[in-house]
Amino acid sequence: MQFTRGSAVVSRSLATRSRFPAAARKHLFNRSLSTTSILREEHNAGQDAPPPKPKRFNFKTFAKVLGGATLVSIAGSFGMFVYVTQKDRHPGTQLPYDPEKKTIVILGSGWGATSLLKTLDTSEYNVVIISPKNYFLFTPLLPSVAVGTLSAKAILQPTRYLARHKARAVTVIEAEAKEIDPFNKTVTFEDDTEIKGEVSHTTIPYDYLVHAVGAEVQTFGIPGVQEKACFMKELNDAEIMQRRFKDCIESAAFPGQDDAEIDRLLHIVIVGGGPTGIEVSGEIHDFLEDDLKAWYPELAGRIRISLVEALPSVLPMFSKQLIEYTESTFKESKIDILTKTMVKEVKDRSVVLQMPDKSIQDVPCGMVVWAGGNKGRKITQDLMAKYPSAQTNRRGLVVDDHLRLAGANGSIFAIGDCTSTSYAPTAQVASQQGAYLARVFAQMTKKETLTAKLTQLEQASVTVTDPEEKAKFNSDIETTKKLISNVKVRPFNYSHQGSLAYIGSDKAIADLPFANGNIASAGVATFLFWRSAYLSTLFSLRNRTLVANDWIITKIFGRDLSRD
Ligand code: FAD
Ligand code: MG
Repeated sequence: MQFTRGSAVVSRSLATRSRFPAAARKHLFNRSLSTTSILREEHNAGQDAPPPKPKRFNFKTFAKVLGGATLVSIAGSFGMFVYVTQKDRHPGTQLPYDPEKKTIVILGSGWGATSLLKTLDTSEYNVVIISPKNYFLFTPLLPSVAVGTLSAKAILQPTRYLARHKARAVTVIEAEAKEIDPFNKTVTFEDDTEIKGEVSHTTIPYDYLVHAVGAEVQTFGIPGVQEKACFMKELNDAEIMQRRFKDCIESAAFPGQDDAEIDRLLHIVIVGGGPTGIEVSGEIHDFLEDDLKAWYPELAGRIRISLVEALPSVLPMFSKQLIEYTESTFKESKIDILTKTMVKEVKDRSVVLQMPDKSIQDVPCGMVVWAGGNKGRKITQDLMAKYPSAQTNRRGLVVDDHLRLAGANGSIFAIGDCTSTSYAPTAQVASQQGAYLARVFAQMTKKETLTAKLTQLEQASVTVTDPEEKAKFNSDIETTKKLISNVKVRPFNYSHQGSLAYIGSDKAIADLPFANGNIASAGVATFLFWRSAYLSTLFSLRNRTLVANDWIITKIFGRDLSRD
């Protein structure tokens, strides 16, 4: 855009210049030259040093350089884009399975598992990934999928894409792990999809197991939540939410609907004042402002969004001024925040709330979105039960500071939302843990290789009698021992990169660590930062392109209203 505008200016001024006939220009040029030479002569008559030549801004050269540089950078970026995409599309050959190498079985294909796979040096291990989803889901942008700002495919990355680019072939299995036998070191898993082959249930051995199965939605056993509320955890949840939301609007538009029923259908209740609940509310509000107002003018003004939170405030992980900023933005956006309010039941046509004064209200609504907490999956609970004395925290798996499962003697690691550490259950923590674990595996290989070398040296030195040769062996043995003792695996250390959340109306909030303190920022500039931060965090160029493309398409054409 800028290039075109810039070059238009350039060509216009060039055109102005060329409006002078060539002869006239030559004349002008000669005149100015001769004036300069007269002046120089006069000047030289008085002093020796020549006067400084008046510098003339040469627009033509400037335009040429600018145009050239722009062209080179466009061609360079395009070349790079083509190179990366072609490299992605045409992976090279991989090392085959090696029975001599140890096997790491990774359960899950979420933040922790994908970050581990990305960083792991697979030339040293055989790797098997087992997950009921054959893709990685970029959860921070899931609320955008729920209202159609982004398409689902934009935030998915098939696990095989990543696996296929590793040095050694990685086995990707679409299945749900059903049982871990830590004593015989095996995992049993099952194809839980609609279509099954003759074999759909099997058991494989592992040397190391990485448990990265995440968590499931915590409903606290509140009646109706599991059956009647929409969740916001998996891709499917976002699609269900979108369908239901559009259904509510179309049903409200049904002829003959009375006022109370229209208000009920158009009341959306979001439960959970964490970043997910806030982002879902913000996204629904944007959908309303940007699109629904134009296409459902008679209904748009009647849509109500209520955000319910049991705690005294929303976004407890953000600083006070950002909480206040969010609350005031929501007020402007007409999103009601109900704090100190608890959901007691979700019914077909209403939600039962316990208000701050402990009174009970049956609030009519069209739809409830549940963005509550996390709960351990069955496979995680079963694993905990295998180590009753070491696994005593009901919140999740207990791990040491090297992410080894307590009680499992170093053969099982656990990362991400399935663990009970002092860290918040976030993608940031899970991905740093995954990357850390890849380094742990690299150090373990290094140690094993050196230990094998030491054994060889020690065995060989036994038969040596020549004192000189013996001394050499002893020195090699000492050096190797030193190298082994130098291979240290530091404990996991989380580095917080900041908290970000989108709050709707093209505004975001950010709490970023700076020096020993924090920088809190909010508004439209933060929203641009939020977008660029997420674009750069996406795992592949393909996803970055799809997400950027969807943002542009939504800006130009709006969101899609059709309900499939
Ligand atoms: P997950 O990413 O949940 O991955 C678990 C994997 O295990 C999945 O692939 C799943 O299919 C697989 N699995 C499940 N059961 C089995 C089984 N039996 N066998 C094998 N595999 C199994 N965090 C942030 O830091 N920033 C954010 O902005 C942010 N936004 C979020 C928005 C939403 C809507 C949600 C839901 C979460 C958000 N989070 C955010 C939190 C973040 O997504 C989680 O903390 C993160 O996904 C945890 O990573 P994980 O690897 O432990 O689990
Ligand atoms: Mg199948």
